[in-house]
Amino acid sequence: MTWFASLSRAQRLWFALTLLAAVAIIGAGWVLEPGAADLPEAAFTVDLPIREIAPELGVTGMALARELGLPVDAPKGKSLKSLGIGQEELDEVVDHLAGHRPSRLRYFVYVALVLWGIVFLWRLGRPDGSPVERRGGWYPRLPYILTLVAAGIASGFALGKSPNPMEGFVKLPKAMAGLYPSVAVEAAGLLFFLVLAVVGNKLVCGWACPFGALQELVYSLPLLRRLKRKKVPFVWSNSVRALFFVLALLLLFGVIGRSKGFVLYHSLNPFNLFNLDFSPVSVTVTILLALGLSLFLYRPFCQFLCPFGLVSWLAERFSLARVRIDRDRCDKCGACVAACPLEAAAGRVEGKPFPADCYSCARCLKACPRDAIVWGWPRRAETGREDAALNAGKP
Ligand code: SF4
Ligand code: SF4
Repeated sequence: MTWFASLSRAQRLWFALTLLAAVAIIGAGWVLEPGAADLPEAAFTVDLPIREIAPELGVTGMALARELGLPVDAPKGKSLKSLGIGQEELDEVVDHLAGHRPSRLRYFVYVALVLWGIVFLWRLGRPDGSPVERRGGWYPRLPYILTLVAAGIASGFALGKSPNPMEGFVKLPKAMAGLYPSVAVEAAGLLFFLVLAVVGNKLVCGWACPFGALQELVYSLPLLRRLKRKKVPFVWSNSVRALFFVLALLLLFGVIGRSKGFVLYHSLNPFNLFNLDFSPVSVTVTILLALGLSLFLYRPFCQFLCPFGLVSWLAERFSLARVRIDRDRCDKCGACVAACPLEAAAGRVEGKPFPADCYSCARCLKACPRDAIVWGWPRRAETGREDAALNAGKP
């Protein structure tokens, strides 16, 4: 690969050390992953009461009653049989809830993918000393595409749907509504994903989330290019995403609807794909729509629905490493704005305090003819200037 051949010795060392670190991180996760301690599903019979089954599945009695289609205040000490539940119905619910049990190894896979994303964007994408005239060879797509494939397989199909960033967020209000036993545990899960999103701007979405990866891969297909130039105004997409979130909270806490505990995202959860669990039918529709629209619309699920997308967009204000624009150099030519699949680059060029989500996809990093964009830490923009070759076009 020309890009790899043009990396400096220091960059190749970074490359090798990062791969080693990623393997070590995943290896540690592998060692710490509990063995195949699958739930003893056969032990759950309808002769047992909710009170005995729910803790084994890591949920509260209220959540199990909801899943079984019973009122949330159904008696928790009576046998399920006496409440009219059949064994087949119970097995299905046990299967579904078992699918929510998080794989510990997957947390390590997320960390390894984010680490690789940071090093690629900050240190490897642009060969040392490469002048702006050669920017066409910077940040090649192939390493990114391979990372997305790895994310889809390793943090998706191979390890199942949990944990994932969306669930990491949704489980917190669910715990507050009484569906999970510990608010603190769910808050820690959310914190994990938020830290990853803040260390490198939204990298957990852009480089590690398996459903984000599938959408990005579909969008990367060289099809419908003309349609791809049209962007949904961020104010619309973000308003839809925020409204869904508010509606989800109102339903969850029973402010609207018949009773507390209704989980809207349960019906729209595309991560079920990684457990090959396509029920209810609205889940299948969501997956098909999100992937179908991705042919010409950038990450539609992330833009319009994902609650983690919403919270990590807010968290972007505190991101340490991210796209940075040198305003002295930028002459607002619009090259990065055209390259960006969202209104993220436009918002940054205009200096908006709340620009659209940036998924650190690197498209804008190779677009600027004035070499005014870098991805990195606050001082990266200045250190870039130290290279004489890069200084050539400075006013
Ligand atoms: S916004 Fe997209 S990439 Fe981020 S967690 Fe949600 S689905 Fe995944
Ligand atoms: S092209 Fe847009 S989304 Fe991608 S890194 Fe640049 S600003 Fe972010």
